[in-house]
Amino acid sequence: MPNERLARFVLLPELKLTATNPDGIGYTAFHAEKTSEMEVCPKCATPSTSIYDSRIVIVKDAPIRGKVVKLYIRKRRFRCRTCKRPFTEPVSGISKGRRFTQRYRAHLLWACEKFVDLKSVKKHLDCSYGFIYKALYEQLELSRKKNAYPWPRSIGIDEHKFKSAKKDSRTEFVSFIIDHKNRKAFEVVKGRTVEELEASLYKISGRENVRWVTMDLSDPYRRFARRNFPNAEIVADKFHVARMLNPILNKRRKEITGDKRINPIRKLLLMSSHRLTYFTKQTIYQWLNSYPDIRELYEWKEGLLRFYRIRGYERARRTLILMTDRMSQSKLPEIQTLRRTLLSWFNEILCYFKTMLTNARVEGYNNKAKLIRKRAYGYRSFQNYRLRLLNACA
Ligand SMILES: [Zn+2]
Repeated sequence: MPNERLARFVLLPELKLTATNPDGIGYTAFHAEKTSEMEVCPKCATPSTSIYDSRIVIVKDAPIRGKVVKLYIRKRRFRCRTCKRPFTEPVSGISKGRRFTQRYRAHLLWACEKFVDLKSVKKHLDCSYGFIYKALYEQLELSRKKNAYPWPRSIGIDEHKFKSAKKDSRTEFVSFIIDHKNRKAFEVVKGRTVEELEASLYKISGRENVRWVTMDLSDPYRRFARRNFPNAEIVADKFHVARMLNPILNKRRKEITGDKRINPIRKLLLMSSHRLTYFTKQTIYQWLNSYPDIRELYEWKEGLLRFYRIRGYERARRTLILMTDRMSQSKLPEIQTLRRTLLSWFNEILCYFKTMLTNARVEGYNNKAKLIRKRAYGYRSFQNYRLRLLNACA
């Protein structure tokens, strides 16, 4: 009988097919029952052969040809002599008390990875959003717990936007911590203040393991690292420092050329000049000669880029001292601000030359986070977003 062959493929190992319901295209409903002579009481492990009663339960199973299969299982209750109470027979492949098979749930998790949005998952698996969320995040939490480990040796921390401001709410930020060595997301925390970070992270053990923390020039993150990682040195992110003058340079340039993005000088000013040809450089300096303030900003910007091409901690240290000394002569308020920042982050900036660590990976993951948010998985809750992100960057 073809039905029986199909049933062997469709049904769970212990079940015997009793009937099928055709639905016009194929079979999506199977009636089945267990045929065992004896079952064992789950409470006291006493075997029983005495059937008390039975009833039909409907259990969802993984889809066949795009259609969810329904199993109508006659489940028997047996008498237990010891407990003096009936117990329901278990069916392998279906967890106790559940109305779906284990492979249905596995299929759902697969679909969540595979499908672009939850609406298609919902349609494909014929279930509610609530059910999908529950299954998905239970699973993510489980694998998260299984893979949790103490603070690693070298971490990076950065922030990104979680929810944009709406009429009745402010913009929400999350802090993202990554493990440099294992190249994965370590933790995601709501907020970006020292208090918020400490409240969420105090449970993780091994703070003394941390030797290096990379970050942008963020005072809260620096305070957090100093307070919580007694053996750590902070590394200021090279790209962040090297780009510090770009917005100012752009602003000053706009005052002259207007906000025309096509203006060729816009790009040229921001590019590192050591990659430019002699003639391009000439063009830049010809333009800059009419604007001494911008010329000075430009030269300091180039100075920062040159600084990061230095190899060796000692040479970098001497150069940074020299640079900040010369900056004190400048009449530009922007350069005085820059100088104060460089002095305030002096050791952290130099730490790069010892470790060569940057925050580039965190920023890469931040872009990944943006994609995840775009996939419209409806992050109503931060916890769901956190799990999703940690698993995507594992
Ligand atoms: Zn019992």
